[in-house]
Amino acid sequence: MKSKKPLRPLQLAVPDEAIQVDKFLTASGTFQDGDLRLNQKGLRLMSEDSGSQPPDIKEFETQFALEDLETIKVIGKGSGGVVQLVQHKWTGSLFALKGIQMNIQETVRKQIVQELKINQSSQCPHVVVCYHSFYHNGIISLVLEYMNRGSLVDIIKQVKTILEPYLAVLCKQVLEGLVYLHHERHVIHRDIKPSNLLVNHKGEVKITDFGVSAVLASSMGQRDTFVGTYNYMAPERISGGSYDYKSDIWSLGLVILECAIGRFPYIPTEQEEGFLSFYELLEAIVDQPPPIAPPDQFSPEFCSFISACVQKDPQERMSSLELLSHPFIKKFEDKDISLGVLVDGLDPPVNYLG
Ligand code: ATP
Ligand code: MG
Repeated sequence: MKSKKPLRPLQLAVPDEAIQVDKFLTASGTFQDGDLRLNQKGLRLMSEDSGSQPPDIKEFETQFALEDLETIKVIGKGSGGVVQLVQHKWTGSLFALKGIQMNIQETVRKQIVQELKINQSSQCPHVVVCYHSFYHNGIISLVLEYMNRGSLVDIIKQVKTILEPYLAVLCKQVLEGLVYLHHERHVIHRDIKPSNLLVNHKGEVKITDFGVSAVLASSMGQRDTFVGTYNYMAPERISGGSYDYKSDIWSLGLVILECAIGRFPYIPTEQEEGFLSFYELLEAIVDQPPPIAPPDQFSPEFCSFISACVQKDPQERMSSLELLSHPFIKKFEDKDISLGVLVDGLDPPVNYLG
């Protein structure tokens, strides 16, 4: 059933200033507390609503409404909805606006926005910032930091394979994001895959969609109903066992190996027979030995790094913190290699509007 409620701002730009909005809810759908008013236009201070005084910069920065965002183009499509490049009308700032279609009950929605609010208030340079979230007519809209070189999917499409020195630099950044999620926030990402690792022109790599898959699953009343691809899912998750942070490490290992060899590791090479159906793939992940980096093509450090990630027994897998000091990461650490060089020569990510 679609909600008739107006847009509700759920989070301020600065996580420290995030406030609990539900307690201000009035029957008209406006939240009010002293000078503060929250409605479909976003956050307003009453003094500014009266129109006599222009808002000062700090007030302005915290005022954010969906209607202030102009669509420039569609930059991606996922299973939950569309991602658009948008520009803030007044500041000119660019954001990625991600819409997630959710026709759900009010009580479930409250739980979702609460979880998203907690999950998305990142304070780590390697996790994509979610500045705001809104809920309107069955769609959750997330205002995200715009990563202008797209995802690893866009990059692999163009370069086919990524060389070890770049992979080490990329991997270090993802690991720093994972250390933050695992050791500081105590959460499992659950959906580490190439499309959720985003890159900008500075060569910074950031993890996105943190918490989204968990929230979508829980919204369906089954906490562990997965709503994405199974390709990168750890064997213990596929077989329905309990799992922890280490399941993200398995996924990272597969992603990095894919970037190195230029194909998803479980897809047979052209010389090998046949291709895997969905069930054969799941069976292969659970029953067969894990994939390896071919030792004749890659350094011992790289092969050892991949093997440390894709151990089938999660206990045997290294943690994000341990992997940060793995010889493969250390090897290129002081070599001053920038991913900016790798993404500089590439075409901008393909978009759906041309
Ligand atoms: P799925 O929905 O199955 O998880 P997905 O991760 O590709 O797949 P979305 O998360 O909706 O789906 O993202 C779609 C695409 O939009 C991504 O692949 C990426 O190219 C682009 N995208 C997402 N977020 C951003 C962002 N913050 N900045 C730039 N591009 C983004
Ligand atoms: Mg995604």
